[in-house]
Amino acid sequence: MTATATRVLVLNSGSSSLKYQLLDMTDTQSNSGSGAGRLAVGLVERIGEETSRLTHTPLAAGGDKRETEGPIADHEAALKAVGAELAADGLGLDSPELAAIGHRVVHGGLKFTEPTVIDDAVLKEIERLVPVAPLHNPANLTGIRTARALRPDLPQVAVFDTAFHTTMPEHAARYAIDVATADAHRIRRYGFHGTSHAYVSRKTAELLGKDPAEVNVIVLHLGNGASASAVAGGRCVDTSMGLTPLEGLVMGTRSGDIDPAVTFHLKRVAGMSEDEVDVLLNKKSGLVGLCGDNDMREIRRRIDEGDERAALAFDIYIHRLKKYIGAYSAVLGRVDAVAFTAGVGENAAPVREAAVAGLEEMGLAVDASLNAVRSGEPRLISPEYARVAVAVVPTDEELEIAQQTYALVSA
Ligand code: AMP
Repeated sequence: MTATATRVLVLNSGSSSLKYQLLDMTDTQSNSGSGAGRLAVGLVERIGEETSRLTHTPLAAGGDKRETEGPIADHEAALKAVGAELAADGLGLDSPELAAIGHRVVHGGLKFTEPTVIDDAVLKEIERLVPVAPLHNPANLTGIRTARALRPDLPQVAVFDTAFHTTMPEHAARYAIDVATADAHRIRRYGFHGTSHAYVSRKTAELLGKDPAEVNVIVLHLGNGASASAVAGGRCVDTSMGLTPLEGLVMGTRSGDIDPAVTFHLKRVAGMSEDEVDVLLNKKSGLVGLCGDNDMREIRRRIDEGDERAALAFDIYIHRLKKYIGAYSAVLGRVDAVAFTAGVGENAAPVREAAVAGLEEMGLAVDASLNAVRSGEPRLISPEYARVAVAVVPTDEELEIAQQTYALVSA
């Protein structure tokens, strides 16, 4: 790496999508605000279809969003198209200023507890984890292989969604099932959204003016996927997602916690296949299963119009959230802050208000006027008297991936 190499490209590869951000790390370190060092951001959607679309916003060049439609056959073609867009802004992938590429990798099992420079052995291990992350790891691998082929000379770093949760004690991570069976098939609770939980818990400590080692935080990452975590002194001690991202909170399309016997029942009594049950619980459950909508804005609009199904879906969502706040308060013993983040957590004031309502005895309260403020900045929404701080802390997984990547390659 040359001294002038200060840029990091962050890639988040899905099965048919590629999200990217190019950041300048000299800017992100001096300014951790929401615009921090971002030179360009974009997304390639529907890779492999006739109607692929590339949306590119050249932030550094101050230009407008550009959209290109047309077939993009695979991830290699997608990354080349992204490279061409970046090159048009003078930010090409062949630039000596590019220090590294940071990849989001969903499942790192127990082995990857830290961001890791990718070599053949690392690739092999990510591949070995495909059975526990069949939807995500193959897509992440494709992104890594494509980027390596394009810039074999450049360090490529994997930042794992599971890494932050590897500090969970055994009593939180193990399911109460036969140990030999669990170990033979690596069945345990891994947790996901770890990059977000790490970033938000640290930012929350910063907001309180404290060292992360001094504070206990419950992080509620409420997006289309949703998870909670209990973070004690900067270390994750419990989280709501498990072997897969299906466990825990009610999500946009996933059921979250459910009696596993429901799955036997669906097979034995309703005659559904394994795949049908999988699709039901992952894609047709949660808010969408309960009321037909998974967008919280739409659900709130329907509630305002008196829609009872939407109201019940909201109540079920909030009830589960409250149970996790209660459980993690007990796990942590002392809670300094509850932090809301991601699409719903950052934007839906009624969700924050309802999740905390009635928890005054636990030291939790929300100030209505602070809660109503719309802002992209981390902020407190609890009244001064409240024993536990309630915060809204916008997450920034790309910045966290870029910072972890840059720290590793510039060390
Ligand atoms: P994420 O997965 O973090 O991008 O979050 C996406 C979800 O955030 C959407 O499905 C919506 O339910 C929710 N969301 C986004 N913007 C708003 C908003 N202004 N008010 C309420 N919910 C929102």
